[in-house]
Amino acid sequence: MSSDAIPTSSLDTSLRFDAVDLVGRTGSHRHVERTVPAPAREAGSIAMQVPEGDDITVAVELESVVEGIYVHGTATALLTGECSRCLDPVEQDVSARLDELFMFPEKVKAEDREDSVLLEADEVNLGPLVRDAIAMEAEDRPLCREDCPGLCGHCGFRMEEDPSHHHEFVDDRFAALKGLFDTEEPAQKDEQN
Ligand SMILES: [Zn+2]
Ligand SMILES: [Zn+2]
Repeated sequence: MSSDAIPTSSLDTSLRFDAVDLVGRTGSHRHVERTVPAPAREAGSIAMQVPEGDDITVAVELESVVEGIYVHGTATALLTGECSRCLDPVEQDVSARLDELFMFPEKVKAEDREDSVLLEADEVNLGPLVRDAIAMEAEDRPLCREDCPGLCGHCGFRMEEDPSHHHEFVDDRFAALKGLFDTEEPAQKDEQN
């Protein structure tokens, strides 16, 4: 294993909450909050992510129920990325809902283990839950603004700086056709009073 494969911070270790005081005390509950640094950005297709080291704040209620510890609350963070049209920086405030039942291992049949989220050593690990919840809220195609005009498809010019920007492409085939159909009308002038 190379050492650079180890993330500088990991939600799987920073978002474990001890629930031992709630185990076996059905009906009891506890509010917990924790702010942790975001791990390194994930490579791949998630356009909007929390920059490494920025805050992810988790506020949840841990509730003891018969089957395990029920966790519900929110994860809040500021995601950053690029406008999918013009590549300008874009920010997105996210408040993602968290909702999961961490089962007591002894309450889960062996064949159901793979489909269940289990309590591990009387701890709930909110890392995977928080990561998934934030990714669900993240914009797939972020825009700096709804009507962002994007970049010129030919030269990459920022259309915002001059909406009339265009290229005079004269394709020989169309030029020939144009000659057939165009009548020599003078360009109409705008009549302004
Ligand atoms: Zn844009
Ligand atoms: Zn252009």
